[in-house]
Amino acid sequence: MTRSAAFYSDALESTVNVAAAMIAMAAIRFAARPPDANHPYGHDKVEFFAAVIEGVLIIVAALLIFEHAWETWLTPRAIGLPIQGIVVNAVATVLNGAWCAVLIRYGKRLRSPALAADGWHLLADVVTSVGIAIGVGLVVLTGYLPLDPLLAAATGVYVLWSGAHMISSSVGGLMDAAPQPAVVHRVRELVADSAAGAIEAHDLRMRHAGKLTFLEFHLVVPGSMTVAASHAICDHIEETLRHDMPHLMITIHVEPEEKAKQHGVPVL
Ligand code: ZN
Ligand code: ZN
Repeated sequence: MTRSAAFYSDALESTVNVAAAMIAMAAIRFAARPPDANHPYGHDKVEFFAAVIEGVLIIVAALLIFEHAWETWLTPRAIGLPIQGIVVNAVATVLNGAWCAVLIRYGKRLRSPALAADGWHLLADVVTSVGIAIGVGLVVLTGYLPLDPLLAAATGVYVLWSGAHMISSSVGGLMDAAPQPAVVHRVRELVADSAAGAIEAHDLRMRHAGKLTFLEFHLVVPGSMTVAASHAICDHIEETLRHDMPHLMITIHVEPEEKAKQHGVPVL
């Protein structure tokens, strides 16, 4: 309608967003499935897969935007119907703004990386849409046509960056990256505080998968301690940790002091 490369790039990006949101929705439904024989640790990691696919889609959109911007740069054309174009863009921007607030809030509350990623992505889109509307307004006011493909190219750079960011942040989850150092520190503190009766805890490892975080460590107890007594210590540690972090999946390996083999930094 407006023949503007900048508006076209914004529209292309929105189209990809719809596809990305559909992928995210399918991923969230799949992730909600309970563990089964094939996936005894649950299906949460599918959300990271989905975010990587979304990132690839977004990068394809960026390449299409660059192509269109280049074409418009070579053959500049006057922008038509600017008021209607800006109004359509403004309505879409307001809708997007309201929606991204909802997505970010629920993404945080439900600890869903796919949902939160969608929300943050949409927030950045709202900012670019405002920038594009101002830019197209300037093109119309000044008659400086090359600004239009330049705006489109800038949008392409932003879209490329957001796709790359989405991929890199999800690869961490696929690679079993550790949680934030503050979370690991808190877990070590809680283990140290709640392991009365045990001698040492070591080889503590954590990895996160969607809304779940897996924790495992070795607990050294006196060799003469009964199985029942050492299990009671484990239960107490697990209870303390889950009280603070309900999404923790905990495995504790108990060993007698004379057999203790240590690889990591001791916790106790
Ligand atoms: Zn048990
Ligand atoms: Zn050990």
